[in-house]
Amino acid sequence: MSVNYNEGENVFLKAYGRYETLIERGEGVYLYDTNGKKYLDFFAGIGVNSLGYQHPKYTKALTQQLNQLTHVSNYFYTPISIEAAKKVVKATHLSKVFFCNSGAEATEGALKLARKYYYLKNGVADSEIISLNHSFHGRSTGSVKLTGNENYQKPFGPLIEGVQYGNINDLESVKRLVNDKTAAIIVEPVQGEGGVNPCTKEFLVGLRQICDEKDICLILDEVQCGMGRTGTIMTYFQYDIMPDILCLAKGIGAGVPVGAFVASEKVGAAMQPGDHGSTYGGNPFVCAAVSSVFDILEEEHLIEHVQEVSQYLIEKLDSLANQYDIIKERRGLGLMQGLELKVPVKPVINELFEDGVIVVSAGANVIRMLPPFIVEKEHIDEFIKKLEKSLKNLK
Ligand SMILES: *Cc1c(COP(=O)(O)O)cnc(C)c1O
Repeated sequence: MSVNYNEGENVFLKAYGRYETLIERGEGVYLYDTNGKKYLDFFAGIGVNSLGYQHPKYTKALTQQLNQLTHVSNYFYTPISIEAAKKVVKATHLSKVFFCNSGAEATEGALKLARKYYYLKNGVADSEIISLNHSFHGRSTGSVKLTGNENYQKPFGPLIEGVQYGNINDLESVKRLVNDKTAAIIVEPVQGEGGVNPCTKEFLVGLRQICDEKDICLILDEVQCGMGRTGTIMTYFQYDIMPDILCLAKGIGAGVPVGAFVASEKVGAAMQPGDHGSTYGGNPFVCAAVSSVFDILEEEHLIEHVQEVSQYLIEKLDSLANQYDIIKERRGLGLMQGLELKVPVKPVINELFEDGVIVVSAGANVIRMLPPFIVEKEHIDEFIKKLEKSLKNLK
């Protein structure tokens, strides 16, 4: 194929700053570009490709579904969509699923459900939502308003009204915003784009209490941290709390566009025919992916594997943090790790890319690592060696 990077620049909107290469193929934890250069992928398509590339069981499940039925409207259930939804319910300990196509659609849907629940209770559509600064919930005009980052919002106004922002791990900052119109509080248990910031247990449990007292929906956005990435199938199990509404995407399809919002019995009952919809949402093809992701996580004990290898990664990163003064802090849960430097990380990330390793930043000073779950200790060793080399060059 004789296409090149510049041809891409000619035909695409300049919405992204992209690497000057064309990725052609993936296998296991590695990606290959059109020149045959190999990259160790510690980013996994922004935490999507949890099974790595060309996982045989996943590929087989999708191929089988392709040969049977890829799409039918949501006027019908299909056997595979029911199977996928049952697995979501079982894994989340929640009750009712709505499949959509992306993380932004999952948070939009969660927002609509919380507002509908409030509307049925109060008879007026004047609800408010509390989100957090440095959060990320998507790029559509509703979800970008939930996203506590003015840079992403400014040119696109007017956006939806009634969203206010507290600060992570500062319960008082949220309490101050709660009033009789508050319909929902939306939080990522581990903020991803905002710099890999885990919530403290005190904070999340405190939010749960506020929501219980005032009958407010707690929406947990596990689009990035969910589906096993942090070492439990859902991150909230580590906090001993339950959401009223959960948002999933990224790892739930492991490479096909699918998201979901999942509700408790009580809150889910607010959704009635005609309230929400999606043409593609949860079609048989993507549900085959969802179903096989749950099967593979279980059959291959991948979440236990995440616990084991993430411990190894954390030890190695902590040891770097002790050795290099330029590192401010390591933080994260499981295979969702961030390394904050005292300086911008761009040169490190660019050098790693030249050296055949893919990672990205989360904010200017944080290196974000989201390797596929199938990563082994030898890959971590390779990663740490190259990371250390580029840190040395920075000094
Ligand atoms: C990526 C992300 C989203 C948005 O998902 P898209 O599929 O890009 O729309 C929402 N919330 C969180 C926490 C994310 O990491």
